[in-house]
Amino acid sequence: MSNIYVYYLNNKIYINLTNKCSNNCDFCIRKNREGMENQRLWLDELPSSNDVIAQLPENLDDFDEEVVFCGFGEPTYNLDALEDVALFLHCKNKTTRINTNGQANLINNADVTSLIADTCDVVNVSLNASTAKQYQAVCHSIYGEKAFDEMLDFAKKVKVKGAKVVLSVVDCIGKKEIEACQKIADKLGVTLRVREKE
Ligand code: SF4
Repeated sequence: MSNIYVYYLNNKIYINLTNKCSNNCDFCIRKNREGMENQRLWLDELPSSNDVIAQLPENLDDFDEEVVFCGFGEPTYNLDALEDVALFLHCKNKTTRINTNGQANLINNADVTSLIADTCDVVNVSLNASTAKQYQAVCHSIYGEKAFDEMLDFAKKVKVKGAKVVLSVVDCIGKKEIEACQKIADKLGVTLRVREKE
């Protein structure tokens, strides 16, 4: 079966740039699914920007204005493709969003927040927990507990550089944790999105 780099949900275009991830979240849909709505998202190889652009539909205008970088992995493992595809989409009058675990600076061993802010109009960072300890207990980052502070620092920096930042949590973490996460979002001056566990 060929690799699916571009897939569709509710008339919105999604881009699947990698299967690599620095987390292994307890609630990750990859644990019990092959993809989304019969679109298999496991990949044999990392796509180039040309691979992705070749799969984009010609009738881009027929789809939602926003295109989302979110697949079966952490998109910032493939920054080259992300940058070029986002540039291409902006030229086609599309807006872009990335759903990220916020560990891009650790993953790329450099501060890549300018690139993210320049290429993604909305940056949705998975907060998932209110403390480093709880985050690590749920997300199991390869970077250990420092991933939490790095993720918040990433969110702060992309916001300062002009991207719209949204922090998100899954509703299964409980009311008390959601309230604590709301305080973190308030302190950063960003929206907290509580999404349903799939
Ligand atoms: S960060 Fe996202 S892709 Fe990575 S393990 Fe967690 S839910 Fe899955």
